[in-house]
Amino acid sequence: MTAPLSIHLQACAKTFADGTRVLEPLDVQIKAGETLVLLGPSGCGKTTTLRLIAGLEQPDAGGKVLFDGVDVTQQSIEARNVGMVFQSYALFPNMSVAENIGYGLRIRKLPAAAQRERVAEMLEMMRIAPLADRSIDQLSGGQRQRVALARALAVRPRALLLDEPLTALDAQLRDTLRVEINQLLRRLAITTIYVTHDQAEAMALGDRIIVMSHGRVAQMGTPHEIYHQPANRYVAGFIGTMNRVQGEYRDGGLFTCPAGRLRWPGAQASGAGELLFRPEDVSIVGEDEPADLVGTVTASLYLGDRTRLIVDLGQAQPLTMDCLARSAPAVGQSVRLQVDPQGLLALAA
Ligand code: ATP
Repeated sequence: MTAPLSIHLQACAKTFADGTRVLEPLDVQIKAGETLVLLGPSGCGKTTTLRLIAGLEQPDAGGKVLFDGVDVTQQSIEARNVGMVFQSYALFPNMSVAENIGYGLRIRKLPAAAQRERVAEMLEMMRIAPLADRSIDQLSGGQRQRVALARALAVRPRALLLDEPLTALDAQLRDTLRVEINQLLRRLAITTIYVTHDQAEAMALGDRIIVMSHGRVAQMGTPHEIYHQPANRYVAGFIGTMNRVQGEYRDGGLFTCPAGRLRWPGAQASGAGELLFRPEDVSIVGEDEPADLVGTVTASLYLGDRTRLIVDLGQAQPLTMDCLARSAPAVGQSVRLQVDPQGLLALAA
């Protein structure tokens, strides 16, 4: 493989012919060799961003796409040499697996021996060598996605663009392929842009994640930053589970609510507000220990390795937390809770 590519989107807005503005001017630097995940709900502009990078769509006037600093905005998808994989495999049904993988090589008129060698290498890499002569309709969904990846990588693309490649697969296969794709991308160190609406997939695969909302970047950061330092309530609510407690900030670092009080280390003007924290920052404490909050268990979901508890605090949104299955309190029981002050967040809407 050649040296990985850096991609720069400069003021890339997109307005479609019908006047719909689906991307606000977007400025993103994608580092050479990294996997950048575009995450967000349906319709937020992820696929449009990917298509701008591929050259399948043009940005509005003034927007630029740079590959290693070179302006490629006017270049075709072929000239940009990027590999694409979609949710709907888009394989050629009338060709065998090997013919599908070799398609781009034939188009590029690679010598026959080099084509055979490259196809064999891809079959091996994706662990589908025994399927080489099968036709596409004889393959499972997971096998088809392996062929699609092999076809995209066979031409040695400068970047790999993946649009929800695992969405059509069942949960178990998705988990397996997610691990395989992760290992493959690390090994190849190819610059990858990966579109998904699945936050677990984003966390597992991304070196960095862009959380998108209505054509805008809500936050860009590492999975760790996005999870632990969400920039706003939208991001906090989109990734993982987040508890919200409404109450009042008081002097002296206290936040009070009907269910108790939290020690709040941050500076905040007195007045009504909301604190947020993750389920893993909550623990049950005994009668003789100081409690921050007191509530009543309203649901207890046995998950095998742990039990998820839903606790009523007399607020609009109940609290979610996990505890060891063997020490789980019963539904209806009152629980005394401590919240790790390190996990408390006060966020803008
Ligand atoms: P999904 O996960 O559903 O594919 P997405 O985040 O990838 O969503 P996009 O496919 O980028 O979102 O679409 C963003 C918005 O642009 C949507 O509201 C969509 O209907 C609109 N859109 C996409 N293509 C066109 C087009 N050619 N003309 C007009 N509007 C379009």
